[in-house]
Amino acid sequence: MMNQSDWLARSRAAVWHPCTQMKLHETGELPLIPIARGAGAWLYDFEDRRYLDAISSWWVNLFGHAHPRINAAIKDQLDRLEHVILAGFTHAPVVELSERLSALTGLGHCFYASDGSSAVEIALKMSFHYWRNHGRPGKSRFLCLKGSYHGETLGTLGVGDVALYKEAYGPLMREAMTVPSPDARLAEPGETAEDVAERAARGLEAMLAEHHASVAALIVEPLVQGAGGMVMYDPEYLRLACALCDRYNIHLIADEIMVGFGRTGTLFAHEQAGIRPDFLCLSKGLTGGYLPLSVVLTTNTIYTAFYDDAITRGFLHSHSYTGNPLACRAALATLDLFAEEQVLERNQQFAERFTGLLAPLANHPQARHFRQRGMIWAVDIATRDPDFRLRFYREALQREILLRPLGTTIYFMPPYVVNDQDAALLAEQAVAALDAALA
Ligand SMILES: *Cc1c(COP(=O)(O)O)cnc(C)c1O
Repeated sequence: MMNQSDWLARSRAAVWHPCTQMKLHETGELPLIPIARGAGAWLYDFEDRRYLDAISSWWVNLFGHAHPRINAAIKDQLDRLEHVILAGFTHAPVVELSERLSALTGLGHCFYASDGSSAVEIALKMSFHYWRNHGRPGKSRFLCLKGSYHGETLGTLGVGDVALYKEAYGPLMREAMTVPSPDARLAEPGETAEDVAERAARGLEAMLAEHHASVAALIVEPLVQGAGGMVMYDPEYLRLACALCDRYNIHLIADEIMVGFGRTGTLFAHEQAGIRPDFLCLSKGLTGGYLPLSVVLTTNTIYTAFYDDAITRGFLHSHSYTGNPLACRAALATLDLFAEEQVLERNQQFAERFTGLLAPLANHPQARHFRQRGMIWAVDIATRDPDFRLRFYREALQREILLRPLGTTIYFMPPYVVNDQDAALLAEQAVAALDAALA
């Protein structure tokens, strides 16, 4: 059997790891950890050292690793049909999944892809194409929030505002127009998060008043802007933005790729504002974190604009693995778990306990803006150390914890199966890792 260090060397030589300066793996500054297996909230390496997966393996995992129910669904599907072209053909898992997602969201049509970025691309293309089919091809621009993140492809970087990821590719991009973020941290003394939301909405209104004729859609990450630093904001912003989109005749695209499936406390984040977006993008937790699958849900109004005798008025977009049956079965098993177990209620009770356990971190002398929504916690660390992120990451790993700060923001996004004992360990070791990283 291959041992731990063999896998390390072979991976460094053959695998170009994502979002990584590979040189850091050579110098040992950034450990590369071969994982042999996962069980529940824990990952195990080849020497049986364990790591608590406190970021749900990049925000995808909901019910832990190797969940018996999801495993069984995929195994059952594997012996029936692993994949079939979805143009001209259909299959039971994709039909059932579409019906159930529609029933949950009130959005009647599901278009599938394989990852989050592709879902965002689809929503952008569909929005533009809708206006084109309505004789308004001039509506070709997009609005996004300051600090927003919607993926890594050229189209999605264009509606993103995280400099680290997009700077190098500026010349390749078609930039969206940026409107103020309702980031609750921007509250002036005496202001509430709702006041900040209203202020940001006034910024949006000013932009729309001037540019609405050339704008197709506003894209938002409802309630929590993830990659931009776990920025949290008041649902009032979504209510106001949705009303403004209606008034100025532009689409609202809700990118719930990260916040969907219970992360913010409700099944979908936009529910907390009582709004219905024109497009809803889902991925990540959709399959419980098992397999790549994404979907764009949209309204009858939008669907109908493409329904025509002319082929070119249709949406001629596809991906090879669109609607993959194995991924759809994983998604159906995930929805079963939500339907049969009191997931959101249990999470709410857990969240109260975990917020209590994080008090020492929230009250740490270097901690700023501790915040929580649903099953997401974040805190900014006041440090000028450019290596803080790496230092903290290493210190946490040494304490059996997988936490991966965004810049100087430490956040927690554990799978929903994390138990109280693990949570206590997580809270305690996070503070220990912070002290060590700052020392
Ligand atoms: C992760 C993410 C994406 C991109 O999804 P990928 O599957 O990584 O392409 C888009 N939007 C948001 C809000 C995300 O968090």
